Amino acid sequence: MKRRDFLKLASAVSATAGSLTGLAGCATSAPSKARVVVIGGGFGGATAAKYIRMWDPSIDVVLVEREAAFVSCPISNLVLGGFTGMEDISRGYDGLRRHGVTVVQDEAIAVDAAKKSVRLARGGDIAYERLIVSPGIDFMLGEIQGYEGAMQSGAVLHAWKAGQQTVALRQKLQQMRDGGVYLLSIPLAPYRCPPGPYERVSMVAAYLKQAKPRSKVLVLDANPDVTSKGPLFKRAWNELYPGIIEYRGSAKVVAVEAGAVRTEFDSVRADVLNVVPPHRAGDIAAKGGLITTNNRWCDVDWRTMESKAVKGVHVLGDATLSAPVMPKSGSMANNHAKIAAAAIVAQLNGRSPILPKIINTCYSFVSQKEAIRVSSVHEWEPEKETLVPVKGAGGVSAARSEAEGTFAWNWARTIWADSLA
Ligand SMILES: Cc1cc2nc3c(=O)[nH]c(=O)nc-3n(C[C@H](O)[C@H](O)[C@H](O)COP(=O)(O)OP(=O)(O)OC[C@H]3O[C@@H](n4cnc5c(N)ncnc54)[C@H](O)[C@@H]3O)c2cc1C
Repeated sequence: MKRRDFLKLASAVSATAGSLTGLAGCATSAPSKARVVVIGGGFGGATAAKYIRMWDPSIDVVLVEREAAFVSCPISNLVLGGFTGMEDISRGYDGLRRHGVTVVQDEAIAVDAAKKSVRLARGGDIAYERLIVSPGIDFMLGEIQGYEGAMQSGAVLHAWKAGQQTVALRQKLQQMRDGGVYLLSIPLAPYRCPPGPYERVSMVAAYLKQAKPRSKVLVLDANPDVTSKGPLFKRAWNELYPGIIEYRGSAKVVAVEAGAVRTEFDSVRADVLNVVPPHRAGDIAAKGGLITTNNRWCDVDWRTMESKAVKGVHVLGDATLSAPVMPKSGSMANNHAKIAAAAIVAQLNGRSPILPKIINTCYSFVSQKEAIRVSSVHEWEPEKETLVPVKGAGGVSAARSEAEGTFAWNWARTIWADSLA
């Protein structure tokens, strides 16, 4: 933590806080209108922190993020293919600091909504006027027998949170023998990034075709069929990677064994096991009492992103119970953040929130340079009291192209800057 941030944080911790209490009088910053605490510096949380400061610099914003840097899931499949590096998908938090956000590298371990405070793992409570929770996902490891042990020993990877697991999966692909089998298991929807697994299939196939042409990609999808951009993905697989990809729908993995997985019907051996377990809202959402549905997701008022379970707390991104046909995507999390930021700034300034209309765009690479796209527009529907897709707006690419590949890179660089710079 930088000294400037530490002093600002010291002024933020409550008088009863632990290790930071002694510095509580040392702050140099002027008194603020109110303090907003944000948990999670991913697409949702980082964007919200930045936009609140941009739209009302008199609001104090403290971002609590456990990692030292942001690593993007979008484009991480290209790292697996060897087409870009981790440094290209990683960003620091100095951009947010320049907007006056106090960035605290720590883990939020509890939320006390009655006292309006957040407890930090390293000690201390931070008081808030409004709280934003954007923790992404955590995995339901118990749903797949043997998963946790296999993950700890490195025998199975998810690489569904970008970072160390992305690097480890790339290494396993590089070490795999020519003639080996890479297995990707996809959980039942809803999961983070509907087209993400199929982009991964394409990127791994592109790498194997080039580097280990006798190898295979085996896809075990718990869903009956490809859940997003199906015809475009299948066409790319048939035309670009004939004989490399085998796709099996309705193939749910229930156990991980030595060098194999078990589905409801059979046992399947592979050299590299990439099993993505089902997921739910991040742990802190459960600890904060924010989960409302199926023990997994957090329902919100889409006009403000305020939790339906806990007043004064806004939930963003993958952790939310998705509105109809709304994907769990970085694009959506970034938009959720702007709804919440606008609503909080309006509320703290005595104004009513505006009714949202937001756009989702998800690009997927199918080869090193070519991509495909899906987009949709979502607007507030007063009778249904949710966001619904606007009929006739959005759609999918007519065909894969290098132009879409250029747009995909531009989209990624733009959203990283919009969220973090
Ligand atoms: C392979 C892959 C490809 C993808 N491609 C795309 C794409 O092309 N386009 C797209 O729009 N989306 C894509 N996505 C989806 C996108 O990554 C997610 O939807 C997005 O990251 C969700 O944002 P979020 O803010 O909800 O969560 P995240 O971005 O995961 O951020 C959560 C943050 O909270 C932190 N955190 C969690 N709990 C705590 C705590 N208790 N204390 C402190 N910090 C905490 C985490 O460290 C993390 O930094 C992809 C996902 C994957 C896996």
